Order: sequence, then structure tokens, then C-alpha cells
Amino acid sequence: MKLCPKCNHSPLPFLMVFVVASVSAFVTWLTVGLSITQTTPRAAASALAFVVVGWALLHYVLSCLRRHCRHDERSAARRAVLDSPGQPGNDRPGSRLGAVGAAAEI
Ligand SMILES: [Zn+2]
Repeated sequence: MKLCPKCNHSPLPFLMVFVVASVSAFVTWLTVGLSITQTTPRAAASALAFVVVGWALLHYVLSCLRRHCRHDERSAARRAVLDSPGQPGNDRPGSRLGAVGAAAEI
């Protein structure tokens, strides 16, 4: 997934993904240890929990970073189109309601 260079600077979301995946792997290690005393299946289950949770959170964080990016030109142009004057109701806040009220009086 491609991120813009400005959004790519902060390591905090990825650090958070690592911490949450590590905590889930540790809880899995403790939980599996209640029923399985051998080290290898516990480690495998913990590694599986780390990979699955880390993969899901990493994709979620990357999609959020891409969705909420305000740095590229395309999203700035889209905002400019949305905020452009000349659309109905842009000149004053109650103009649409005024038209509705005038139609209701007729
Ligand atoms: Zn960005």
C-alpha cells in the first residue's frame, strides 16, 4: 500500500500495532498454558495470534492513513470542488429553508 511521504513519517501507529499484537500473543501464551504445558504448541499459538492480529491491525491502520490523508493534490482539489460557491444554499445558510417556507405558504 502506498502512503504519501508526509503520512509515512510517524512510526506511532505501527508501534501501536506491534504493542497490541504483542499483548494478544502474550495473553494467548498464558491462556494456552492452562491446557497445554509443552512449549512448542504454546509458542506456535502465540506466534499465530501475533501474526493474525498484527496483519489485521496493520491493514486497518494503513487503510485509515490512506483514507484520512489530506496531503495530496487530488483530495485538496476534491475539497475545493465541494466548497465552491455557486451551489444552491451556499450564499446564506437559510436560503434553502426560505425556499421551502415560501413553497409551503403558496
Ligand atoms: Zn498524507
